[in-house]
Amino acid sequence: MSHSRRPKDVVTHIGHHKLDPATMMMGYGFDPALSEGSLKAPIFLTSTFVFDTAADGKRFFEGITGRSDGSGRAEGLVYSRFNGPNQEILEDRLAIWEDAEAALSFSSGMTAITTLVLALANQNDVIVHSGPLYAATESVIDKIMARFGVSYVDFPAGASREELDAVMDRAKAQAAERGGKVAMIYLESPANPTNALVDVEAVHAARAAAFGVKSDGAELPPIAIDNTFLGPLWAKPLKQGADISVYSLTKYVGGHSDLVAGALVGSKAVLDKVRLIRNPMGGICDPNTAWMLMRSLETLELRMTRAGENAEKVCAFLRDHPKVESVGYLGFLPEGSAQRDIYERHCSGAGSTFSLYLKGGEREAFAFLDALKIAKLAVSLGGTETLASAPAAMTHLSVPEERRAALGISDNLVRISIGVEKAEDLIADFANALEAV
Ligand SMILES: *Cc1c(COP(=O)(O)O)cnc(C)c1O
Repeated sequence: MSHSRRPKDVVTHIGHHKLDPATMMMGYGFDPALSEGSLKAPIFLTSTFVFDTAADGKRFFEGITGRSDGSGRAEGLVYSRFNGPNQEILEDRLAIWEDAEAALSFSSGMTAITTLVLALANQNDVIVHSGPLYAATESVIDKIMARFGVSYVDFPAGASREELDAVMDRAKAQAAERGGKVAMIYLESPANPTNALVDVEAVHAARAAAFGVKSDGAELPPIAIDNTFLGPLWAKPLKQGADISVYSLTKYVGGHSDLVAGALVGSKAVLDKVRLIRNPMGGICDPNTAWMLMRSLETLELRMTRAGENAEKVCAFLRDHPKVESVGYLGFLPEGSAQRDIYERHCSGAGSTFSLYLKGGEREAFAFLDALKIAKLAVSLGGTETLASAPAAMTHLSVPEERRAALGISDNLVRISIGVEKAEDLIADFANALEAV
C-alpha cells in the first residue's frame, strides 16, 4: 500500500527462519485491514490520489521530482503515472525473488530496457553489451541511442575473462576519444537463440580491473542483465555481481501468455535514477496488469518447476530421435566446457526454452511445426502452454543472412518453450510431429 500507510510488521521471518519467496508471494506488502478486510488486494482504478493536507501534497511532489532525496520516490501516492498501490506491492514482491534492494515495474520489457538506457547514458557515452541481444534491445542500443550520440562496443556472450578485459579497454578508449564515459554494461544470458551464457562473475571482475571498485560515491558503469529466460527461479545474477536484473514479465513471470509487462530489479541507487526518468516519461505498469502479475507470482515456482521438469524429459526424448540433428538445451552442456562451468556457477536449472535442430531445412522444420497438435505455433515463451516457432522465418527474418549463419539461426532450427502440460502428452505430440517430417 502507500508508503505512508505501509503495514508495520511485514512477515519475512518466523523466529530465525527466513521465509521462501514462494511463500511470501501470497501476502507480502498488502494489509487486508486497509481494504475492508479483502483477502486479495483490490485493483485500484484511479488516475489520482487525494492528499490529506496541502503540505502533504507538496512533500510528496518533492519526492516525485527528486527534490527531497533524489530518489524520485514519494512518501505517499500521488498520480497513477508515478505510482499506485498495485504496482508498489508488485515491485516489493519482485524484489524478494532476488533479495534485491528495489524493483520498478513497466508496461513492457522493452519499456523497462529503454528507460534504463535513457537513465544511464548521456551524449558521447559508450554502452558495452553482449551479443546477440533480443532484437528490439539491439535496436534501442545500436540504432535509437546512436541518434543521441551514444555508441556501443559489443562482445560475444560466451567471451572469456581475457576477451572481456580487452572489451573494457576498447570501450574506455572509445569513451575517452568521444569525450564521454562508459555508461553501462548490458548483458543478456542465455542469449537467444544461441543459448550462450554470459559469465557475470567474469564481467564483474573485468569491470573492477578496468574501472576500480566502488568507494565513497565513485561511480562504476552498472552491470544490467536481461534475466527473462531463467529468472527469477533458475538464475539470480545479482548474486554474481550484476547491479540490475532486467525482466520481460510477459514471459515466465506473467506465465499465462495473457499480458505484456516488464521490470528492473536490483540496486536502489541505479533504480532511483531510473525512477527519475519513469516519473516524467510514464511507462509504469497499469494496475490491472500489476494485479494479474501478483496472481501469477503466487504460482511462479510451481509453474517454472513443472516446465523445467517437462523440458528435461522432452529434451531427453528429442536428443535420441533419428530425425533430430541436435538439441540446444542448457542441461546438455558438455562436462568440462567453459559454458558448463558458467552454468554450474550461475544457474540452478536449465529452463524450459531450447533450440531443436532437425535434420534437413525449412521444409522439415515447417512440416514438424504444422503437424503439432498440442504445442501451439507462436513466438514468445514462458507460458503455461508449449509454444514452437521457426526463428529464421519468423523472429529473426529481418536479420541479414550472414549474421543469421553466425548465430546458428539456420532454416532447420525450431525454438521451443515448454509449458506445464503432462510431459508424456508433449512427448507424444513431438513424436507424432517428427513422423510427419
Ligand atoms: C520478450 C523479451 C523482451 C521484450 O519484452 P516485452 O515484454 O515483449 O517488451 C526482452 N528480452 C527478452 C529476452 C525477451 O524474451
